[in-house]
Amino acid sequence: MAVLEPIRTSKGQPRRFRVAHPATLEPLGELVVTPADEVREAVRKAREAQKKWARVPVADRARLMLRAVDILLERQEEYIDVIMRDTGRGRVETILMEIIPAVDTMAYYARHAERLLADRTVSNQTLLKAKKLVITCRPMGVFGVITPWNGPFVLAVNPAVPALLAGNAVVIKPSEVTPFSGRLFVDLFRAAGFPTDLVQCVDGDGETGAALIEAGVDKLSFTGSTATGRKVGEACGRNLIPFTLELGGKDAAIVCADADLDRAVSGVISGCMFNTGQFCCGIERVYVVESIAEEFIRRVVAEVRELRQHWDGTQDVSAMISPAQVDIIEDHVNDAVSRGARVLIGGRRNDSFRGAAYEPTVLVDVNHGMKVMTDETFGPVLPIMVVRDEDEALALANDSIYGLSGTVWTKDQDKALALARRMETGSVCVNETSLTFGAHNAPFGGVKQSGVGRVHGEAAIRQFCHEVPVIFDRLGLKKEQNWYPLSEDKGDGMQKFIRIFYGSKLLRKLV
Ligand code: NDP
Repeated sequence: MAVLEPIRTSKGQPRRFRVAHPATLEPLGELVVTPADEVREAVRKAREAQKKWARVPVADRARLMLRAVDILLERQEEYIDVIMRDTGRGRVETILMEIIPAVDTMAYYARHAERLLADRTVSNQTLLKAKKLVITCRPMGVFGVITPWNGPFVLAVNPAVPALLAGNAVVIKPSEVTPFSGRLFVDLFRAAGFPTDLVQCVDGDGETGAALIEAGVDKLSFTGSTATGRKVGEACGRNLIPFTLELGGKDAAIVCADADLDRAVSGVISGCMFNTGQFCCGIERVYVVESIAEEFIRRVVAEVRELRQHWDGTQDVSAMISPAQVDIIEDHVNDAVSRGARVLIGGRRNDSFRGAAYEPTVLVDVNHGMKVMTDETFGPVLPIMVVRDEDEALALANDSIYGLSGTVWTKDQDKALALARRMETGSVCVNETSLTFGAHNAPFGGVKQSGVGRVHGEAAIRQFCHEVPVIFDRLGLKKEQNWYPLSEDKGDGMQKFIRIFYGSKLLRKLV
């Protein structure tokens, strides 16, 4: 990758890279790879720090988290600058994609952590009615976070915040392509007063990520591609480490005949081009019903023509993170064109950047024999396929190895919900794009090859704990029926009891 250039180092020295701005290629600094023994040491120190942190009351942890919110609000320009340089992204996009969701996550979990982590006394089912059941949350220990380059700050903050509030330590391995944004996360929490070893960062590429898993973390959160996710899942499985995988996608938009065209056109374009198409739940393919297709396509092309692509921080669309990413886009577009697709706008590199860029592109006459409709493109490319009706659109939307998210554009809420129920994705937005990712009280994740497990949602914070059920005897009898001796009489009595109880429609309601 041109944004990363290896520096020659002598034997035994850690590997180093020069890091450059993706759009301008201006040098940003050096990345020194953390060797595997230092990764192990980081996890060891984190484990020590976590033991003390687990004893800090949740309310005090939440107070520190709110201090981190204040610091992020105060220093946001500094943070925005670093993220913009690392990613080559615009300022408003950085605020929308990194700062707002980060502040929101921190404030939300700080407010609710005490309630969500409190011991819960749960009503028992019939056979255990005479016992009291309390479910308590015990922190897991050291939580490893491996993040991609396309949301380098927020994708570290999102899993780390509930993990820290739940009493865990966090060690993050940011993408080698965006190392400075990854480090911001550590700076922020340390500045807020979180203990130094509780929040750490190890630097490097895939080798460092693999070393973090092998260093004995107690749980791992991985966000990245499906191909790497599979390796990470295998390594976690071998080490018997619980994990969540947030992976790639090929999100479809279904544009129904009764869609509000103004909204659908703008929404689909924003959903596709946001972050220059480098967005996990960005729209990657559109199915539009034939009765409105011509008008929809005409308006899409007109609005895409208005997008401003350059680099000064105020642009709509920017350079790609690396030349490798442009190679993928070019391959998908060329493959589609060679199989009969037509380019209505774009369809070529944008050579006005020193870094690698591709013009916002709209394709028609596409089909599922083309990579652009089946593989993750991760760029500013909008392939539009005309379909007979919504059923055909849904069948094509579901014809994918991926299932991260999807969108439906219609004025009919009942129809939207019916389509959403049948869409094989982890979440669906109606007349909206990607917002499910920001809904903290909703579980987020993919189905099929888009992920394993869920993040966010009220349950998410408890997933960073071992939920430990504790059962108390209430009656204080000298002996229980199921203790020795196991006489025939007891067996007969129990059979009578279950026959009466589970055989009665009325009593079954008490189960
Ligand atoms: P990668 O899978 O290439 O990398 C993700 C992270 O894993 C990086 O930090 C990478 O290091 C590291 N890594 C690479 N190899 C290994 C390994 N063997 N063991 C452990 N860690 C390893 O993804 P990208 O960075 O290219 O990110 C883009 C992808 O992320 C897209 O597919 C996108 O859809 C997905 N994504 C999914 C999201 C979701 O919520 N579902 C959200 C955002 C992105 P390094 O980069 O330094 O090589």
